[in-house]
Amino acid sequence: MKTDQIPAPEQNPDEPIDKKENLFEVAEKQLERAFKVVQLDESLQTIVKQPKNEIIIHFPVRLTSGKIQLFKGYRVQHNNVLGPFKGGMRYHHNVYLDECKALAAWMTWKCALQNIPFGGGKGGVKFDPSAHNMEDLERITRRFTHALGTNIGPEWDIPAPDVGTNSQTMDWMMDTYSNMVSMSDKQAVKRVVTGKSIVCGGSPGREEATGRGIVHCINQWALEKRFSLPGSTLAVQGFGNVGSNTAQILSRMGVSLIAVGDHTGYWRHPEGFNPYKISEYVRAHRSLQGYPGGQSISRDEFFATKCDIFVPAALELQITEKEAKIMNCKVVVEGANGPTDIDGENLLLSRGIDIIPDILANSGGVIVSYYEWLQNKRSETWDIEDVRSRLETRMSSTYQLVSEKARFLKVDTRTACYAIALERLQQVYTRRGIWP
Ligand code: NAD
Repeated sequence: MKTDQIPAPEQNPDEPIDKKENLFEVAEKQLERAFKVVQLDESLQTIVKQPKNEIIIHFPVRLTSGKIQLFKGYRVQHNNVLGPFKGGMRYHHNVYLDECKALAAWMTWKCALQNIPFGGGKGGVKFDPSAHNMEDLERITRRFTHALGTNIGPEWDIPAPDVGTNSQTMDWMMDTYSNMVSMSDKQAVKRVVTGKSIVCGGSPGREEATGRGIVHCINQWALEKRFSLPGSTLAVQGFGNVGSNTAQILSRMGVSLIAVGDHTGYWRHPEGFNPYKISEYVRAHRSLQGYPGGQSISRDEFFATKCDIFVPAALELQITEKEAKIMNCKVVVEGANGPTDIDGENLLLSRGIDIIPDILANSGGVIVSYYEWLQNKRSETWDIEDVRSRLETRMSSTYQLVSEKARFLKVDTRTACYAIALERLQQVYTRRGIWP
């Protein structure tokens, strides 16, 4: 092997390559805002400001082209006082350390908010998966899993799908990990990842869970506001797992998808798109590019579309002051993690636009991941109606708890979510203490 076949990674792994803002700074500011309204020990504040572990791995992969390429993988483990670290694995050309740190912290708050016995983690590999064939993706995933080694584990750190990864990625990760343990442990370690395909031990209802959880939040919001959902309008940014499932479930409730977009462009259709047809198109073409229905519009026109419900379901930092100024909706439901920056959020709230924050809105995914983990642990398979009804109960009751907390503390919904999560962590730290 010639060493000049391995290009050295040049970029500072802490920094975003094409974002003006650093995601971890947004997460830090949200936390500081919560510290002002929740009485927390200073020691807890110090502990949760930073993750426990930050792992960066460079691993070589022999691609199908014959070329050997060096990849950069990340896993950040934020907090595990409530249970094993838990969070997605992202394949994207802009994965960077501070992004993983922010996303891992949000997982800690999300699990604590939903009272799930998991902590927070996040990771990924910095590369563009759309530029690789399936065999390359398998080689990259298996090599990455092997390089992570015992940094993941069914009682230690449990990855799941995120942007650019799916159930196939999780099946490969599970299979590789199970080949790294002793023969007698192979079955027991299936739950090292969640979001697997059903035949490989995944849970019925996991694929749709994040979208379904978003819809339960929208339902609760509509009940609270006495707003009628049938006949209302929707705009969705990002038509992957989260965006497509949300739009499909809402369409069955009579909500019309009038604007949609992804990394290739934006489209509008005043009469409403058929979200099932769009999903089929995206499955076949891997993006919305060239979609024949509706009218092509600019990104600004998309954000300015008059609609009732706006669901960002793509990447982070999409709603800054610029977008918040032109948005024309009643509620923003954060399907994506961290889609709204601090200025964007302040402006939306001052304009009377409600926000259902990410750590509540998109928590359906980790809730059903927990159900998958439990089923694997108990060698059970629950039916889909059971999973759906448990999810609905948990999403609706947490939504109501957050609403009450926001009213009691007289704070915005995101800060109320943080308050509930941080108070739960504080209770545990108070009882357990900090050793030595
Ligand atoms: P995905 O890879 O299935 O889809 C991502 C979508 O975003 C694609 O349609 C893509 O074209 C679009 N996109 C990417 N870059 C964009 C850009 N610059 N502008 C506009 N659109 C862009 O990913 P997903 O699983 O649907 O995740 C979407 C978001 O939801 C992420 O923020 C993820 O962290 C969050 N999330 C996902 C889950 C889950 O269960 N999958 C759970 C909780 C949160």
